[in-house]
Amino acid sequence: MSTNRLFLISALLLIGALVLYGYYGATPRPPHQRPPGATSPLGRRVVKTDRAWRDQLSRAQYAVMWGGETEWPNSSALTTEHRAGTYHCAGCHNPLFSSATKFESHTGWPSFYAAIVDNAVYTEPDGNRTEVRCAVCDAHLGHVFNDGPDPTGLRYCLNGDALTFALATKK
Ligand SMILES: [Zn+2]
Repeated sequence: MSTNRLFLISALLLIGALVLYGYYGATPRPPHQRPPGATSPLGRRVVKTDRAWRDQLSRAQYAVMWGGETEWPNSSALTTEHRAGTYHCAGCHNPLFSSATKFESHTGWPSFYAAIVDNAVYTEPDGNRTEVRCAVCDAHLGHVFNDGPDPTGLRYCLNGDALTFALATKK
């Protein structure tokens, strides 16, 4: 075997090892530390490993929900969704927001003035902003600001990638 070929095989093995290393993550994300006293509806909790979330979610969903990234404005069809229904966490299906509190913020992100129940989400400081997380699985959902409409004055600015929409069933 020539030196060149040995070098090539070694290089390929090294690249393969690096790909596997990147895929499986040498340092899996540790579980999120919830604020003390955070509750959730019916005490429901969904806790999964970083690997399991990566397997379950799309790349875009994972980047938002566990990477804390923000999707491009106007990239989600849910921004202009105006039918009656419920918005759930894309990770654990926890009901988060009702269409009844959705409003047109013209920001390019789905916006609500209240969570469906108080403890559906919890908030944490994020620099000069306030982060919103799912109270059941701790996934990042977006941020909340104080420039929303009545009656709360809040604007939950969410990533559509972190949500799924369920149409209200006709009664
Ligand atoms: Zn969740």
